[in-house]
Amino acid sequence: MLDLNRTICALATPPGEGGIAVVRLSGPAAYPVAERVFRPANPAKKVAEAKGYTALFGHYLLDGQRMDEVVALFYRAPHSYTGEDVVELSCHGGRAMADGLVQACLKAGAAPAGPGEFTRRALENGRMSLTQAEAVMEIIGAAGRQGAALAAAQLGGALAGRIGAIQADLTELASHLAAWVDFPEEDVPELEPARLDAALAGAEARLQQLIDGYGAGAVLRHGVDTAIIGRPNVGKSTLLNLLAGFERAIVTPVAGTTRDLVEQAVMLGQTPLNLWDTAGLRETDDVVEAEGIRRSNQKFEEAGLILAVFDGSAPATEEDRALAARCKGRRAIAVLNKEDLTAAPGVFDQTLLEGCFDRVVTLSATEPAARDTLAQAVDSLMGTAGLDPNAGALCSQRQLAAAVAARDALAGARQARADGFDLDAVGVCLDDALEALCRLTGEDAGEAVIDQVFSRFCVGK
Ligand code: GDP
Repeated sequence: MLDLNRTICALATPPGEGGIAVVRLSGPAAYPVAERVFRPANPAKKVAEAKGYTALFGHYLLDGQRMDEVVALFYRAPHSYTGEDVVELSCHGGRAMADGLVQACLKAGAAPAGPGEFTRRALENGRMSLTQAEAVMEIIGAAGRQGAALAAAQLGGALAGRIGAIQADLTELASHLAAWVDFPEEDVPELEPARLDAALAGAEARLQQLIDGYGAGAVLRHGVDTAIIGRPNVGKSTLLNLLAGFERAIVTPVAGTTRDLVEQAVMLGQTPLNLWDTAGLRETDDVVEAEGIRRSNQKFEEAGLILAVFDGSAPATEEDRALAARCKGRRAIAVLNKEDLTAAPGVFDQTLLEGCFDRVVTLSATEPAARDTLAQAVDSLMGTAGLDPNAGALCSQRQLAAAVAARDALAGARQARADGFDLDAVGVCLDDALEALCRLTGEDAGEAVIDQVFSRFCVGK
């Protein structure tokens, strides 16, 4: 339970070795706790008198003993992350000193912070909206720079801005409708049908845009699990090494060299990939290889993107056909490799790829330029190429579900119009849409929704 009278503390930097570790204190007694723990090097300086946005150098005490050097940063309510009095104490990184500093703060009267409690206080004190709080966690977890930029835009309120504009339009419509329906004697002008239809369609389209961007945004932030798959010796490991930029996997002309999964995170074009090079799929009596193939199959099922590699310089085999058929309905790119060896076009019967893949690219994995060729195909397929990180995007399943509910309610309103229902019915659908949007932005969000959002936070944030 959130108790704003408590003063909380936690390590705000990751545990383990590092240059510095930061322990954050927040709450009404942040200054008194800091005063018990921290001794300024200049005895004339007093913690209690420290102004906001200033720093003091000194050391901290644990059980009366002088410990590590510390820089203390002071923030005065409401001008801090949480909106409360905050003191951030930085000591040297490493478990011993950082843990000692947390202990000293606890002994001096602070309580350990719960997961996400600093951010939750910021929400509670009106320092940020729920979508901005979610963005904080996305920034922490972002895999690539574009993904972090996307989350940062949201922290700045870009998503809230986009939703707010839709909300404002719908609220205006809803109030006009309500006035017209509820006060027939008041001479409220009737909404022009064309204007009503256009406004409904426009809001629905804007929500659809947000929904469409969700997948690409999630890919930007967390990367997409990608399986490189194909029969032995087509060049899977060569492709992985090309994408990784170094010799990640062993490449030999001997079929069956890659027996286990090899994992590698790479940035390809705009898209972060979590790549899995897999054992070549083939029948085998070798138990180790068979286990590798079992794992490859599992990765294939779980992957969000499949790079199916074929040897374009040789006729297709039965295994190639089977692989192509398995890729049907999946997000998959066919990579026709060994372009440099392809003596005559048509050696590999490309008709077997038709209808099974979203994209087909022809390249030589041994040529550095092949990286760009594949990057273009991946970016366009994943939708990461056209996504503007500054525009703001939905960033959680919770937000997605609310946006979908709002869109569906608007579609319902348009259907009600098409079916000739009266404006009462349209008004009901509009109210549903507005309620869903309020859930999205966190206005009127119940305790349960907020708990759900914060359950994924880490301590110290
Ligand atoms: P994997 O079993 O599918 O992982 O295949 P490898 O990456 O181990 O490659 C098998 C053989 O094909 C190796 O001798 C590679 O050097 C060769 N190879 C891979 N890609 C190309 C290519 O684009 N052109 C040529 N000429 N050889 C390639």
